[in-house]
Amino acid sequence: MSILAAHGGPPTVDVPGPHYQWPTVDADLERAVIDQTRRSLSDRDASGVIGEFEQAFAAFVGATYAVSFATGTAAIHAMSRVAGLRPGDAVIAPAYTFLATATPFAFEGIQVCFADADEYGNVTADTLAAQLHPNVRAVIVTHIWGNPCNMTSIAAFCREHDLLLLEDCSHAHFAAWDRQHVGSLADMAVYSTNQKAITTGEGGVLTMNDHRYRDLALLFGHYNKRCQTEIDPDADYYPFAYTGMGLKHRMHPLAAAIGLHQLQRAGQIEQRRRQILDRLTTGLAGNPVITTAVVPTDRGRHGLYVIGLQFNAANATVARNEFVKLCLAEGAIEVDVPGSTHDISAEPLFARTDPHAPYRRVTTTPANPDLPGVRRFQDSFIKIPIWGYPGDDPLVDGYLATLIKVSAAVAA
Ligand SMILES: *Cc1c(COP(=O)(O)O)cnc(C)c1O
Repeated sequence: MSILAAHGGPPTVDVPGPHYQWPTVDADLERAVIDQTRRSLSDRDASGVIGEFEQAFAAFVGATYAVSFATGTAAIHAMSRVAGLRPGDAVIAPAYTFLATATPFAFEGIQVCFADADEYGNVTADTLAAQLHPNVRAVIVTHIWGNPCNMTSIAAFCREHDLLLLEDCSHAHFAAWDRQHVGSLADMAVYSTNQKAITTGEGGVLTMNDHRYRDLALLFGHYNKRCQTEIDPDADYYPFAYTGMGLKHRMHPLAAAIGLHQLQRAGQIEQRRRQILDRLTTGLAGNPVITTAVVPTDRGRHGLYVIGLQFNAANATVARNEFVKLCLAEGAIEVDVPGSTHDISAEPLFARTDPHAPYRRVTTTPANPDLPGVRRFQDSFIKIPIWGYPGDDPLVDGYLATLIKVSAAVAA
């Protein structure tokens, strides 16, 4: 067995950093941006690149409408208002997610109840049901790290209890459940286009099939000209077209140009990323220490945001964080325990019931400290990039070799 780099052996990955850059900035992408600078740098309506990007995005995810925003967080904020949620209402959200799945609801004074996770880090109909109470009006799910939630049972749960179903698909641009694109079973879905599989640099997209929701989404981010020309003039909300509801959160045309370019090569991105995910999954199959965390393909299709790994502490002589350190020493510098995606349920923001309350230090006790699924998932999870660009072969090979080498060295 070869000697670990941490013990003086040669490192496995001999590629200078950085080891992950996204998107791939090549001459084509540069041309798309330069062309847009000559076309327009501020679009007041959807007649230019904003409309082209939204149409392409809706077609990509199989939604009737897509409305673009400056960030995914802004899109989730708009979604909370379009859903008609108000102070005193409650929404059930995952405890294990990126903070922005839930923070816009807290901003509005909506109570957030946090649901536990399954073995993939996702909420289930059962963990959602455990948080149900009379004020709950909606559910938001995250397909965390690209693994789709069980949307069949979650949609049935929401129908049974008359709850709106919202999805945070920011990790799940290429994901499907039961052959249907994620987002399509919900009332509305958000896709952050920050550094996600399809990226605009900064940005977010809200998708829906309901025309009224689409008009309201325009009112919550795109006031004046766009609303006046696009929303239904006979609707009860038309008098607000000029002012909107007071906020402007629209996407930058250069971001839309980058997104449109990414969507045009979505097929290539998906093909290469799926190949890499399969390669790692096959290469680590049966490994007692480390395997990929991917839902069985007969139910769900992975969203291709990152590659999630499951560390099996029972079969190792070292703890998870020590395993990661040994991988880093091998030169696999992107082997990572996620820093900002974790249990968010105890954040003081969610303890504020009045959004206009003064900013005081509060001692928070989470409403539901008992989240055994979240703890289990969080304590055993590691992620690596999924790459998906020309020249990524040495990294894919090197990271797989590192995981195999280190797991062999620490196997109990
Ligand atoms: C990135 C992300 C967001 C926030 O989107 P921004 O575009 O960064 O505002 C929300 N939810 C999840 C799960 C994310 O990963």
